Amino acid sequence: MASHQASADRRVAVIGAGMAGASASVALHNAGLSVTLFEKSRGASGRMSTRRTDQWQADHGAQYFTAKSPAFESEVQAWCHKGWAAAWPGRIAKLDFSKTSAPGKFEPTPPTPRFVGTPRMTSIVAAMVAPLALSTQTTITGAQRVKGQWRLSSKEHGDLPEAFDALIWAIPRPQLAPFEGLFPDSWQHTLDSIQFAPCWAVMAGFDRPLDLPFDGLFVGRSDDQQPGASPLSWVARTLSKPGRTGQETWTLHANRGFTQQHLNATPEAVAERLTQAFIALGAPTPAWTIAHRWLYALAESTSPLTTNHLWDESSQLGVCGDWLTSGRIEGAWQSGSQLAKQLLCSPR
Ligand SMILES: Cc1cc2nc3c(=O)[nH]c(=O)nc-3n(C[C@H](O)[C@H](O)[C@H](O)COP(=O)(O)OP(=O)(O)OC[C@H]3O[C@@H](n4cnc5c(N)ncnc54)[C@H](O)[C@@H]3O)c2cc1C
Repeated sequence: MASHQASADRRVAVIGAGMAGASASVALHNAGLSVTLFEKSRGASGRMSTRRTDQWQADHGAQYFTAKSPAFESEVQAWCHKGWAAAWPGRIAKLDFSKTSAPGKFEPTPPTPRFVGTPRMTSIVAAMVAPLALSTQTTITGAQRVKGQWRLSSKEHGDLPEAFDALIWAIPRPQLAPFEGLFPDSWQHTLDSIQFAPCWAVMAGFDRPLDLPFDGLFVGRSDDQQPGASPLSWVARTLSKPGRTGQETWTLHANRGFTQQHLNATPEAVAERLTQAFIALGAPTPAWTIAHRWLYALAESTSPLTTNHLWDESSQLGVCGDWLTSGRIEGAWQSGSQLAKQLLCSPR
């Protein structure tokens, strides 16, 4: 009993309500700590994102996830059991223009269990954080350690009244830049080895279901900039994913080379270019399109990382995120849960 009260007295602020922040927060909350989650957007889920109206929806960030480690596999099974996620039995193909043997031919990919949030990609994180104290539309702009406690300020609300014993950052590496002065020197090498690539995404709506031989398609190589190469890296049909309803929509992702070259193009110009590329794959002209630019989309490390989270015991400061591991949803979950474990083992 005494140790439970001691845990509840320990207040932790988690900044960023994507998968990493959610996974850290849930683990700390389940261990009895008092957790407050701060998120700059209107809702939780970060890059596991869905755009929707009354008529349609489209996952325009992360498309699906796989589960490779036993720990994540059992977590995903629990989500499926609770109805937050489900297997996506979509017909997933690939099209490699660089192949000389059968250029431009759709080839099925090897069967791999792929999962999605249900009824939409945002559902998992939204359900995970539902029991927690979540402060949305709160962009943390300042953090200071005063007399052994963390004090925060935000763009929307100025100085926040609460004080915290520990602080966790769960945001993309580039967005940590203003706060690096708080970090120990020993983290610098890891921070310096991370790169983020942007990604243009287009959501396209159609008046009727498309008759294409795939529900998801990997297109070409991610850096393909050969003349005539497709600007697409991936397309997927929303209604092939479990739990989705409404109008026929497809998500089109641009490849890395196209996105870099057209980073500052207008959304309309990007939508037109990616739509034309989709039409070249056999799609009809869509009824409408919306383009979204992910400035910090896909993380990678220039050198092997030795840890999937960062923790400094003396200042009770931690960092987690997909970029400290695989750059994917499984990695984000692992990073957050491992950081929570380390914090729980770390005396105040
Ligand atoms: C286009 C695209 C396609 C992808 N496809 C896949 C895929 O198919 N499979 C896969 O596994 N992964 C995919 N990913 C990657 C996957 O989305 C990420 O690995 C995962 O969602 C990252 O979770 P995270 O919690 O680390 O970060 P995020 O999801 O980025 O969460 C960080 C959160 O912090 C918030 N935030 C940032 N700064 C502040 C601040 N100062 N104050 C308060 N809040 C702040 C942000 O609003 C955000 O909600 C894709 C990503 C993109 C963009």
